[in-house]
Amino acid sequence: MSFDNEFIKWFKDNFGNDVDFNCPMSKYTRFKAGGKAYAVVSVKYVKEAKKIIKFCLNNRIKYFVMGKGTNLLVKDTGFSGVVIRILDKSGRILIKEQNRQSVKIAVTSGTTMAAVCSFAIKNGFLGFNFALGIPGTMGGGIMMNAGSDSGSMGDVVESIDVLTPSGHYKTLNKGYLNFSYRKLELTNIGSGLPTSNKHIIASCMLSLMSSDKKTAREEAVAVINKRKASQPREFCSAGCFFKNPVNSKYFAGQLIELCGLKGMAVGGAAVSEKHGNFIVNKNSATANDIITLQKIIQKEVHARYEIFLEPEVIIVG
Ligand SMILES: Cc1cc2nc3c(=O)[nH]c(=O)nc-3n(C[C@H](O)[C@H](O)[C@H](O)COP(=O)(O)OP(=O)(O)OC[C@H]3O[C@@H](n4cnc5c(N)ncnc54)[C@H](O)[C@@H]3O)c2cc1C
Repeated sequence: MSFDNEFIKWFKDNFGNDVDFNCPMSKYTRFKAGGKAYAVVSVKYVKEAKKIIKFCLNNRIKYFVMGKGTNLLVKDTGFSGVVIRILDKSGRILIKEQNRQSVKIAVTSGTTMAAVCSFAIKNGFLGFNFALGIPGTMGGGIMMNAGSDSGSMGDVVESIDVLTPSGHYKTLNKGYLNFSYRKLELTNIGSGLPTSNKHIIASCMLSLMSSDKKTAREEAVAVINKRKASQPREFCSAGCFFKNPVNSKYFAGQLIELCGLKGMAVGGAAVSEKHGNFIVNKNSATANDIITLQKIIQKEVHARYEIFLEPEVIIVG
């Protein structure tokens, strides 16, 4: 399939300057590497994405949804389709219910997790500070069950509103949401519906604890200080590259360090000296440099510990 002039006209007419054609994904991913997509369309809300999806399905064009691209790597061969980027920096955050103990807030999926953290701290709500310092949107965060050692999305998400592949909106409460380590699977979504990963998160309802501003702020400072000490920030990356293995006393980063791979480089990509589980883009790395390094790490760790490190980063293409 090629992206012909008729398609380009439709996107220009409907989305104007919010479309980038023949766009290198290094522009929109935190790794700052990767090949081109036919088009990247930036939208604030899922209702705008709905129109694009309908057009793509009618014209048999592949599409892919992303948030801030902080957990994505697009191969150098690119993505022969349309990337829908759902991102609303300030976002919509509304208090829906509140009592002395708890509060429920509704948030659109393009809102950044940082905006939700600030909102919670400003209002003295506890339960979301685990996300401090995790870049990305609520949609990406929920899909990845983003988290840290003090909690993850699955602990606070009460329900999500999704756009189904058939173009309908549906609210999925906890019974449909199977959160596991850095993963959300939608279960029991009914026969006849296509697979879960085609659902697009439009918004969510979070359940947090009512507290006071001072407590929320103090907790936040402690979380931020801990993060600063352990994570490399000087180079681009996608955070931890591999999931921590189950049934091992070691974290992925420790296994990589024990194999002597810290600092190892392939082209412009390198294993961070500060954190073994961070592959960083040190010097104009290609996606291929990063993937080659990934494979070397997997091979070395497997040869020594018989553990296969599964990537946490979503690799597209
Ligand atoms: C420096 C750094 C530190 C990090 N630290 C952490 C950490 O401590 N803990 C942690 O868990 N992660 C961490 N990450 C990884 C990343 O920030 C999270 O996974 C984040 O939740 C991804 O959000 P995003 O908006 O960037 O999603 P993207 O990277 O754009 O997408 C991730 C996945 O979500 C899907 N997706 C995105 N939006 C939607 C939507 N609206 N509906 C359906 N699917 C959607 C995409 O298709 C893709 O599969 C870190 C990354 C960096 C760069």
